[in-house]
Amino acid sequence: IRRDPEQKEFHQAVTEFLKSVDSIIDQLPRLRFEKILERMVEPERIVQFRVPWVDDSGSLQINRGYRIQMSSALGPYKGGLRFHASVNLSVLKFLAFEQVYKNSLTGLLLGGGKGGSDFSPRGKSDREVMAFCQSFMTELTRHIGPDTDVPAGDIGVGAREIGYMFGQYKRLANEFTGVFTGKSPVWGGSFIRPEATGYGLVYFAEQALMDAGLSLSGSTSLVSGSGNVAQYTIEKLLERGSKPLTISDSEGIIYDPEGIDNKKLAYIKTLKNVKRGRVKEYADTYRNSVFTPRSAYGEGNPLWNYPADYAFPCATQNEINEVDARNLVANNIKAVMEGANMPTNLEAQHILTGSGVIFGPGKAANAGGVAVSGLEMAQNSSRLQWTPQEVDARLVSIMKNIYKTVDQAATTYAKKGDLVAGANIAGMLRVSDAMLAQGYV
Ligand code: NDP
Repeated sequence: IRRDPEQKEFHQAVTEFLKSVDSIIDQLPRLRFEKILERMVEPERIVQFRVPWVDDSGSLQINRGYRIQMSSALGPYKGGLRFHASVNLSVLKFLAFEQVYKNSLTGLLLGGGKGGSDFSPRGKSDREVMAFCQSFMTELTRHIGPDTDVPAGDIGVGAREIGYMFGQYKRLANEFTGVFTGKSPVWGGSFIRPEATGYGLVYFAEQALMDAGLSLSGSTSLVSGSGNVAQYTIEKLLERGSKPLTISDSEGIIYDPEGIDNKKLAYIKTLKNVKRGRVKEYADTYRNSVFTPRSAYGEGNPLWNYPADYAFPCATQNEINEVDARNLVANNIKAVMEGANMPTNLEAQHILTGSGVIFGPGKAANAGGVAVSGLEMAQNSSRLQWTPQEVDARLVSIMKNIYKTVDQAATTYAKKGDLVAGANIAGMLRVSDAMLAQGYV
């Protein structure tokens, strides 16, 4: 905090982590002696660069590009790229930090990183997005590689952006390698990668609910966001018999009292992925639904004040604050499962866990995306492609395993049900074992 007082999101992520691992540091003095925590909070490398590109009116635009290479203790740096106006060093450092322990929990050989730009693809033409992606990759290419650092998508980076960036990498490096995950299955991607974070979130939730004698069947759910993670969370919830009631984007929220069914989900996919429209258009098509614009929010987000059994925040960081947490508790929410990264702020997290709400932290609950990215890397290395059924079966098994690991660590080092502590501790122990073995690097 003394070094970078302005990096609020990074400090928030580190504070949560340190609170969880403090007790085991006392039990394992070697970790303190070898300054494991001090090393963990310092990225191995940060690259920051200028991204010049020309817009459709012929004007030169300048954005800022970043890559945070946080930890290579367990494998090549791995983590997505985020293109959004809110991107800065603090946001990317928090995401890279979380990514290290998330990747560790998957059990695969993946280090952790994150990157992106303050460029927002929203409202830009395809040509402008391509121009930006090509310029961004012209610099980033020299810092990544299939055995060095393997980026993927995140907010604002979907199939289109990954295609443009992969194309530019291929041209500059003169090699067709697995340097990106989230590619189209037609040219080297893995089946189930687009679905993986949302599906994995629901698989993880099922394990946690089963442990508590609960189930998704016949329930109702609140989902925030309307992008990749939200869409496939809704798809899997529907398959499991839960009725999703809400979606959102940065301009507002939709509440559909009749529930979002498969037909409405298909509409949302076309609206967001093809037409690149806004969720408020949903209310024009489905007249019984209600749109609340962002300007009408009070201290809390009204999305979290609709009664339901379960909540799946899938938009962005800090979208559930203290007011929202109190509303959720007052409406008897039974579980909050984080599809987004750090969607719940620290105070809200304490209110929820203190009230007995089952809380699945993003580090564990949304690890399905990076897990299938790891499987994509394995398929690329062997130049084979597995069937959707095979990838999905592996995803189910990885998510079950993550729940088991997190639950066991919680029971051993904190208390049964404290999945936040369990995820942080289990994630950290694997990384610290590797760091201890690899010397002072
Ligand atoms: P997308 O860009 O596909 O979707 C993001 C969604 O969140 C959009 O609906 C977007 O609305 C909304 N959103 C973004 N910022 C805000 C904001 N400030 N307020 C309200 N809504 C907002 O991204 P993803 O679905 O891929 O990512 C969502 C979350 O999941 C992120 O936290 C990401 O880090 C996390 N995640 C993603 C993984 C993946 O595999 N994609 C893996 C693990 C975690 P709008 O259209 O207005 O921008």
